Amino acid sequence: MTQTVGELRAAVSGAVFAPEDDGYDTARRLWNAEHVREPALIAQVHSAEDVQAAVRYAVAEGLEIAVRGGGHSIAGLSSVDGGLMIDLSQLNQVTVDPEARRARVGGGALLRDLDAATQEHGLAVPAGLIGHTGVGGLTLGGGMGWLTRMHGLTIDNLESVQLVTADGSIVRAAEDENADLFWAVRGGGGNFGVVTEFEFRLHVAGPIVNFGLAFWGQDQGAELLRAAREVIPTLPREVNVVIAALNAPPAPFVPEEHHFKPGFALVVVGFGSPEQHAEAVARLQSIPPLFQIVTPMPYVAVQQLLDEANGPGMYHYEKGAYLETLSDGAIDVYTSQQLNKTSPMSAAMIYHLDQGYLETADDATAFGGQRTERYAMFVIATAPVPEALEPERAWVRGFWDAIQPYAINIGSYVNGMAEPDAARIQASYGDKYARLVELKRKYDPDNVFRRNQNINPAAT
Ligand code: FAD
Repeated sequence: MTQTVGELRAAVSGAVFAPEDDGYDTARRLWNAEHVREPALIAQVHSAEDVQAAVRYAVAEGLEIAVRGGGHSIAGLSSVDGGLMIDLSQLNQVTVDPEARRARVGGGALLRDLDAATQEHGLAVPAGLIGHTGVGGLTLGGGMGWLTRMHGLTIDNLESVQLVTADGSIVRAAEDENADLFWAVRGGGGNFGVVTEFEFRLHVAGPIVNFGLAFWGQDQGAELLRAAREVIPTLPREVNVVIAALNAPPAPFVPEEHHFKPGFALVVVGFGSPEQHAEAVARLQSIPPLFQIVTPMPYVAVQQLLDEANGPGMYHYEKGAYLETLSDGAIDVYTSQQLNKTSPMSAAMIYHLDQGYLETADDATAFGGQRTERYAMFVIATAPVPEALEPERAWVRGFWDAIQPYAINIGSYVNGMAEPDAARIQASYGDKYARLVELKRKYDPDNVFRRNQNINPAAT
């Protein structure tokens, strides 16, 4: 070692934890309990200068770097055995300029921090569905959620970033400055540096939106989805639908006889009038559901409705796919595969991507998925104990194999890969991959930032 830990402690304004320190165990914990890692050091940074000091220290000491935003990487990429974890959790300030409709967001903020600050002004950034997800990882991979149909992916609403690059420089990237880097961070993940601040454009949304959840039994699934695929693309752009194959929760609005039953839900969030929402819900119910709830709700409540059910500490595995259409074959796989899972906590979700998603040109960002109308499918295993994850991992893999004949290619949304292997990453980025490799060589030739959906600078 050329520098001591004391020097790192002196250079970083936040706490630096070694394994023997109080606070280390809490700081190293990740959302997916499957990944328990032992970093040599954890630097809890408070500023871009802290990040700069941490990056320089790790490079000088030959320590592998992991960057932790919200810690939700399904692959456990935000920590590292024996390396330096740069923990951004304290870099979570959000400042909103309601006149200019802009928000400046710390690189370690959570979606709930962002939603709380923007909703004070009746504004929002399109982001994900769960409040404890990190803005950092979600944005850098693309970011899809309820407002995507109206206003695109999270990256489509990104104005600029401040980031610390592999050589320890603090730089700004935007359309008018380091435009190539700005292109790369919009979809290219954490490959190009540690983002210390995101600047987003904001949209009017809420404070009250319309929420609907209806549930059909396992034997109704195929008929339901064949009807839904005709209706969903024709709904007004204010209405967004997520399809879920899951077990009915033991929630107060679920009649007891349906608790834990496998089936299919359509979750509908509407940003228009209650009448528009009611009409959309009715059109989706040509087959009557077993139960449903339709109610106005604060946008921030919708954004946190699934938080508890998806809390940290469970064991997870995930694979995804892009489908051009919900063909009869894809529906058969989707509905029948549900019967093969062993954990009632596992689920398979489908987002329909159209409207706002298509309004940014494909080559305008590095997003790993092309801007053609499509369905993004996620098969997610969840188990309460490690032993119970093993059969579920096999279930996810079997599901993924079975859906392949209907998938666009082997690629998928890069933020939903439990095993981000090189071939699937390359397939996801398609034509953009070569440019990403070129930019990785320019900004991080030594692959200092490699605990991510890695673009290997040595790739040919
Ligand atoms: P982390 O594990 O902290 O980071 C993930 C990756 O990003 C790591 O490689 C990390 O190094 C890097 N990273 C994080 N922050 C920074 C930063 N500031 N600068 C540089 N690199 C950084 N995705 C959606 O699009 N929509 C959803 O609705 C959605 N819902 C989800 C719900 C749950 C419960 C979970 C677990 C995931 C969900 N995702 C969703 C996927 C999500 O986008 C990814 O898991 C994402 O990586 C989470 O970001 P994070 O900052 O929490 O994760």
